[in-house]
Amino acid sequence: MPFPIKTCVICHEEFELRPDKPGFANRCPSCSEPESTEPETRRPTDYAERRAEHEVNAARRRAIRDLLYRKDS
Ligand SMILES: [Zn+2]
Repeated sequence: MPFPIKTCVICHEEFELRPDKPGFANRCPSCSEPESTEPETRRPTDYAERRAEHEVNAARRRAIRDLLYRKDS
């Protein structure tokens, strides 16, 4: 039984909206974590690096998905 697929408002990556997912319903787990669970303990540099890495991964996944879709059509 698949969960509904939502698009993150922060990084625009698609994610499964699980009933027990913490944070906002319109943010993926990676974008929900830093602000909702650890607002003070995480250093700004760590947060920026995590975000940059996250966005690179999301872009890479989008590119791969576009290739797969293009092959089907
Ligand atoms: Zn996100």
